[in-house]
Amino acid sequence: MKITRLRTFHAAPRWLFLKIETDEGVHGWGEPVIEGKAHTVEAAVREFADELVGKDPRRINDLWQTLYRGGFYRGGAILMSAIAGIDQALWDIRGKTLGVPVHELLGGRVRERMKTYRWVGGDRPADVIAQIRRLQALGYDTFKLNGTEELALVDSNARIDAVVARIAEIREAFGNSIDFGIDFHGRVGVPMARVLLRELEPYRPLFVEEPVLPEFWERYRWLSDGTSIPLAAGERMYSRTEFKHVLEAGGISILQPDLSHAGGITECLRIAAMAEAYDVALAPHCPLGPVALAACLQVDFVCWNAMLQEQSIGIHYNEGADLLDYVSDASVFDCANGYIAAPVAPGLGVEIDEERLIAAAAAPPRWRNPSWRHRDGSVAEW
Ligand SMILES: [Mg+2]
Repeated sequence: MKITRLRTFHAAPRWLFLKIETDEGVHGWGEPVIEGKAHTVEAAVREFADELVGKDPRRINDLWQTLYRGGFYRGGAILMSAIAGIDQALWDIRGKTLGVPVHELLGGRVRERMKTYRWVGGDRPADVIAQIRRLQALGYDTFKLNGTEELALVDSNARIDAVVARIAEIREAFGNSIDFGIDFHGRVGVPMARVLLRELEPYRPLFVEEPVLPEFWERYRWLSDGTSIPLAAGERMYSRTEFKHVLEAGGISILQPDLSHAGGITECLRIAAMAEAYDVALAPHCPLGPVALAACLQVDFVCWNAMLQEQSIGIHYNEGADLLDYVSDASVFDCANGYIAAPVAPGLGVEIDEERLIAAAAAPPRWRNPSWRHRDGSVAEW
């Protein structure tokens, strides 16, 4: 069996799909993408294709190491996202060839259903109560929202009070009938993170995500020592060598590797196992498309410490298309009371509607994240 061709498709809202074809007619799907840098990752995939065409797709471990080590330079958002999408497609091919879902190739599932949550509130959190109420009626009881808009390195009491008031309002409206995580999104600097964590503690969020930017990972321990709120991070970490520092330093309770950014299924399984050795939970990051979500679920079903799965249905980024639009059979992602059942179809368990994808790729998106400024005109973290 040999890889014959790699094809890529840009599609709204901001996704890149990869199809790896073989000489035996079996194909696999991946999603190699960095949001806002889809064309850059695509270029990396095309360069990696030189190492893949003509090779046996069943040698996933060897191909992964070839891509990771063979090019001398390694790691980082672009290269590890390119490897991630390729790795997903190779697992998809392997599962389809053997007629089993990927989780069966990995030793079988450890749970019957996987808990998911829904995003509410958008980029600048608003309308949160009404959105939670609507989703609660659909059976969801766990949510995530952005904690804040622009926040200066040291900001005013009025800004802090606005953040706290929004969270207080949620807890007051719903009591403990729901849980919610708060994403600081790297918008909060180290000084304000300490303040906000203390102020938010009485409202008992399920976790605070990216309490500070990942480059300040050495402060996670200091922050966690000042709060009982579990801290989560990982969407901007790309390999087990990066996660190693975070786990050794302590302070993070939930790791959030992204299956389309951190080397795919192969690398995220290693990261999950490392987390388990520290009694740290896993909650794969996934504001992306159906192949990325399918890859996450394959990992969730074999990792005992997987606690919660992000998914992008209805997320504020999904303009022009949503998660289920490119899927031939959307029922694979059916949620019952917030839980998704184990995938049963061979490979990643999701089949892509290629005609729909080709039509979407005719008008490729050029999504860019918003560019924010502080009130003094300086660049703000988004
Ligand atoms: Mg986040």
